[in-house]
Amino acid sequence: MKYNHVLALNPYYKDSTSAAGLFPPTGIEYIATSMKNLVGKITLMDLRHEKEFQDINNLNEFIRKEIDLLCISITWNFNFKEICELICKLPDDIPVVVGGYKATEEVEYLFNKCPTIDIIVRGEGDETIKEIVSGVPYKDIFGISYRENGKIVHNNNRPLVDVNSISFPDRSLRKNNYHLVVHGIKLTNLTFDTILTTRGCPYQCKFCTFSLNPLGQKRTYAERSLESVIEELKTITADVVLFSDDNFFTNPKRSEKLCDLIIENNIKKTFTVQTRIEIAKHPVLLEKAEKAGFKLFLVGIESPHDRILEQLQKGFTQQKIREAFKVLNNYNFYIHGYFIYGNISETEDEMVYIADFAKELHLDTIGFQKLRVEKYSPLKEVIAKTPGYYYDSNGGPVYSDQFSLKDLKRVRNKIKSSFYNFQQVRHIVSKVWRIGLITKSDLIMFFFSLPLLLFRVLKREVLKRVRSKEPGFVVRMFRFYQTS
Ligand code: SF4
Repeated sequence: MKYNHVLALNPYYKDSTSAAGLFPPTGIEYIATSMKNLVGKITLMDLRHEKEFQDINNLNEFIRKEIDLLCISITWNFNFKEICELICKLPDDIPVVVGGYKATEEVEYLFNKCPTIDIIVRGEGDETIKEIVSGVPYKDIFGISYRENGKIVHNNNRPLVDVNSISFPDRSLRKNNYHLVVHGIKLTNLTFDTILTTRGCPYQCKFCTFSLNPLGQKRTYAERSLESVIEELKTITADVVLFSDDNFFTNPKRSEKLCDLIIENNIKKTFTVQTRIEIAKHPVLLEKAEKAGFKLFLVGIESPHDRILEQLQKGFTQQKIREAFKVLNNYNFYIHGYFIYGNISETEDEMVYIADFAKELHLDTIGFQKLRVEKYSPLKEVIAKTPGYYYDSNGGPVYSDQFSLKDLKRVRNKIKSSFYNFQQVRHIVSKVWRIGLITKSDLIMFFFSLPLLLFRVLKREVLKRVRSKEPGFVVRMFRFYQTS
């Protein structure tokens, strides 16, 4: 074997309030699993759970003593600068391979910034890593960029592989369970995991890059065999499982069969899915989903306004949304709606109406984000052709002559405070309790954790404002409390 001991590293370690901290680092787990039987030993390390190794000296000491290949996944924009700094400090005599969505977008930047990186795996890396660890000459490996004689060589892209040929993550490589931890405080005893049963999405929403692979190619929708999905579900010990498919119900017949198999195999979990509103057209499937343990639906609504929905090529109208929710509200699903604000030509009143519309639909919670442009987003062209609208050349939120990023933040706070009032919070608590999303002990634990959580949030906000020397931070803190 070419390598005796490989370290598969998730380098993100900072406290995050996002779901990024809630779920396992699936990307690097897929890679670690692909290498099994091709290397002597694999250590899967998630730095969020390895306090000792968050100290770079300890990490380097371990690497020098044990490791002869280092594989690092760079997936998110979040903390990208810090991750680059960490990689720069790694031993330069141990080969370093990086991959993941963000790494694929930033190949040139990473090679320039981090002299310790030897190879970047572009796109899906499950097959590529097998060839790297097996000792295939770099020049013959599709989908990599690597250093050679002081230059960077970019090999051709690797064609997408059949989803059924990819092994699902071996969870026995993990050293820990995943809990809801916010600002360092564990809020419930529930454990969380994810599963991916399809890749790609047949829809063409204008703002969306989810359905693109990291090379910007539209992924053809592809399904894993249901037998393999059930086999994987049986290996999952977590209480809550997120189907991270772009749209779990793309093929309703298949989803129905999967619900039947979950029930037949007596797999008892709380399932979460991302879905479009079209699921409301399938009442039999909804009933089966409810029986199979599907409790939390994450629904992309995006906008209450037909003009904006058309701009985003969402494929439905306000009327269709209302009709769908009339059906969905008859079931015991907790529904979280996603919205986008700051769209082209959208007025402040139209943005703030998101909160009222969400209440009219009886949504339980909502998430809303600014219109964004990512590297391969089809929106880039639209924004470039629209006078008065801008985005950072590296991608990011769209702003305009009328709405600066600061204005959009103010609008965001208006939507948030208008939706999340006392009645809504009371509704959320009673709903999660009524549909059994959490148990009595979880609820008790959550309420006991709340004062400490609020204290940490407050401390963090105060420190942030003191460090940034913002004038009048006490007044801002007061406003922050009002809107939280
Ligand atoms: S937003 Fe959802 S439905 Fe639309 S293309 Fe993206 S993944 Fe598919």
